[in-house]
Amino acid sequence: MIQQIDHLGIAVRNLDESIEYYEKALGLHCHGKEEVASQKVKTAFFEAGDVHIELLEPTSEDSPIAKFLEKNGEGIHHIAFRTDDIEGQLKHAQDSGVRVIHEVPFEGAANKMVAFLHPKSTHGVLTEFCMEKK
Ligand code: ZN
Repeated sequence: MIQQIDHLGIAVRNLDESIEYYEKALGLHCHGKEEVASQKVKTAFFEAGDVHIELLEPTSEDSPIAKFLEKNGEGIHHIAFRTDDIEGQLKHAQDSGVRVIHEVPFEGAANKMVAFLHPKSTHGVLTEFCMEKK
């Protein structure tokens, strides 16, 4: 079951400059930085109430985030829903006719298992499911 919006993923060109904006202009606290090698990104996390902001800077030109920046510039990249059953959630989406990017969840940032649905079958929103690793 989907429990809540876990985080918004935001593509940025420069993590440190973006962190400065969130800290100084918005007064949010960066509570974690991490590199996710499999996705070729560096991430930084902020908390806004129960919802997190995940900043994503590409670490390589063939990173999915580099491609996104090239096409769209900086901005909201994905929305992530927290679930207590990521496998079941994925299966349910597929059974409902949704195309998935990952049939099998993989290890994302912040000690979570994650998987993405294809924006072509989610009305334009790259959608992530995430679940706390057990
Ligand atoms: Zn995410």
